[in-house]
Amino acid sequence: MAWAAGVANRLNKRYLKTALAAVLVSGLLACGGGDDPPPVLTVDANGASTIDASALGTTLATYPLSALSTAEAASLAFMREEEQLAHDVYVVSATLWQQNAFNNIAASETTHSAAVKDLLDRYQQPDPLAGLPNGVFKSPAFQALYDSLVATSRLSLVDALKVAVEIEELDIRDIVVQQAGIDNADILLVYDKLLRGSRNHLRAYMKLLIQQGGAYVPKYISQAEFDAIANSPTEKGG
Ligand code: ZN
Ligand code: ZN
Repeated sequence: MAWAAGVANRLNKRYLKTALAAVLVSGLLACGGGDDPPPVLTVDANGASTIDASALGTTLATYPLSALSTAEAASLAFMREEEQLAHDVYVVSATLWQQNAFNNIAASETTHSAAVKDLLDRYQQPDPLAGLPNGVFKSPAFQALYDSLVATSRLSLVDALKVAVEIEELDIRDIVVQQAGIDNADILLVYDKLLRGSRNHLRAYMKLLIQQGGAYVPKYISQAEFDAIANSPTEKGG
């Protein structure tokens, strides 16, 4: 039976070599081997949180396309308009008030709205904003909200900053509510980035509001949830 033991031994050695190679390869991948894909979300020194379209495209391409539920389709259309509303309000505020955050965060919101559009395209869903200029929305509820937030933003810099905090708070509430009804991993990935971005934007605007002597009472989430976000450090990208 010596030959059998010899074969078993050789097979074992071979298996071990293969297993070792697999461990080495996965180790190298884990370390990046200097070849990490670029992060989907990048965060600047002031908290503006931007989604990189090409990194997002590379990441989404690795996800299987699963069936889109009615709730998921509705959520994508909704978030496309909500992210665009943030952008459009901040663009108006940037023309009214000397505050760089409005322009910088508006630029981030462009990438948030575009990321949701990428998902709509991926699932061959219509874009509710197709053909509409800035400040015009398909849904009457978003149109009414936009008109009222812009009117308030015109009153003073403090009011414009309060509106900005309110928009980010609304985003956080809505993303968290909608995450619960979604199971497609690609949508959850994008929503996780949007949520992280909204928390960073809320922190950034809240800091500026306090610097201007303003205060804010949360409308959509509890005071405890709001404080936990506002009083924690800016989150990193990734
Ligand atoms: Zn956003
Ligand atoms: Zn935001």
